[in-house]
Parts: sequence; C-alpha cells; structure tokens
Amino acid sequence: MPADLHIHTTFSDGSDSPRQVVDRALAMGLEAIAVTDHDTVAGVPVAVEAAKGYPLVVIPGVEINTDYTGREMHILGYYINTTDPKLLDRLGSLARARNDRVDRIVKRLDALGVHIDLDEVRTRTAGTLGRPHIAEALRRAGVVSSIQEAFDRFIGRGGPAYVPRSWYTPGEAVAMVIKAGGVPVLAHPGTANADGLIPELIELGLKGLEVYHPEHDPDCIEHYLRLCQRYGLIATGGSDYHGQRCHFDLGESTVSRAVVDQLRALSL
Ligand SMILES: [Zn+2]
Ligand SMILES: [Zn+2]
Repeated sequence: MPADLHIHTTFSDGSDSPRQVVDRALAMGLEAIAVTDHDTVAGVPVAVEAAKGYPLVVIPGVEINTDYTGREMHILGYYINTTDPKLLDRLGSLARARNDRVDRIVKRLDALGVHIDLDEVRTRTAGTLGRPHIAEALRRAGVVSSIQEAFDRFIGRGGPAYVPRSWYTPGEAVAMVIKAGGVPVLAHPGTANADGLIPELIELGLKGLEVYHPEHDPDCIEHYLRLCQRYGLIATGGSDYHGQRCHFDLGESTVSRAVVDQLRALSL
C-alpha cells in the first residue's frame, strides 16, 4: 500500500498539473500522495477535487525553502490547514519576496546591458519565478549557451547580478507548520548536510525525517533510520516528483500506509 509523500505540481516548479499527478498516481496504483509544492498550498484543493471518488488519499502538504547559514534546507509540512490565514499570509510574503528578488535581478542584468523580457518569462510559468527561469530566458536569448553558464557568469552567488534571498530559518518554518496544525518533517536530510541542527529542530517540534528519497543511497537511508529510532521521529519518504521529464518518477520512493496514519495522528 504505497504512499508517495513528496510531489511538486505546476503550482511550483513541477511540470504536471495536480490533476495529471492524480491520474498518474491512480494509474500506478498508489494509495496516498502528498502535494508538497514549494512555499504554496494552492495546488492542494485542485488535487483533492481531482481525486474525488477515486481510491486515492490526497494529503495536504507544503515544502518550505529555508536558509540555514547560507545553506538551503527544506521543511515539509503534512496535514496542514491550507486555509489557515496566518499560514497563507506567511507563504504569500515568501512568494512576494521571491518575485521582488526576480525583479531586482532583472534590474541588475539591465544595468549590465543584458535585457530580458520579464513579462514573457512570466507567461511561461504558472508558479513563482526563480533564478532557473531567468537562466532559461538568458539561454533562449542567446546570452549564454547553458543554464550553468547563466549562473556562473551572472546570477550565481557572487555573480554581478546576484541578489541574496530572504527566507525563513528552518526553525521558523517548523513553527509555521505547527501553527497551521501540521506535522513538520525535515526534507531529504542527506542533501541538507546539517545533522547538527536536528536536535534543535526537534525541540521546536520537528516530528520526522524524510528517510526515503531518490537521492539517498542505502547507507544514507540506514543512517537516517537510526536517527529516527534514536530521537523517536517518523521515517517518511517520497519521490520529490517534478514531472515526467525530470529524473525521479512518481512512486520512486514510497512509504507504507502506516506512516500516513502516524502523520495524521500527530496533526491537529
Ligand atoms: Zn526539497
Ligand atoms: Zn521537493
């Protein structure tokens, strides 16, 4: 009875709509999915509606991007109340900060004599814009020949058009999830490289580690399973699906229905 608890849709940087994700999950025989878009819960009701009448549980979720001393850490929130005004307000301020950042990057590029049409870039995505979209626009305009070159020459950290981001800390994201009645889980800890922070996050209310993730090898899974046992955390997992063109397929990492029940039991 597999459950995939980490999925992105067109409401953030995924290429499948919530309905397409639901269709694919049903075709694969998944029993439960969590829609966990970056910094937004807007895709959740769309997926819930699409799954109505089908044997598929849609868990409301979110993946909040945070900054920990210059490193990017992601906090997953499960069974959050997606209509909680405070949560929506905080996520909204994150989206505004992202959009402001994109505007400032485009202005810096302008000053460097590199012009991109932001309105045109905006028409190409349903979700929030980020640096990858600008990099892609630079590539389309022939300014650079690859996304990597765009980051290296212009918009990467330390580049002439780089604008620092303003994100919440991991602790603030954990608190945000709890206040919205949800269960906070540290996403793909194997890529965050910040195990030292885990005890502090547990004090703040962290309830789980995403042990099963396509980027975790067997040693990594073993390591985080042990940490879950040591701290009494739930071992969650999911594919981090971003669409069929991306490298992780839906259902690539799953957990049992028991994990879903544990998460639901901890939510408010
Ligand atoms: Zn992530
Ligand atoms: Zn993700």
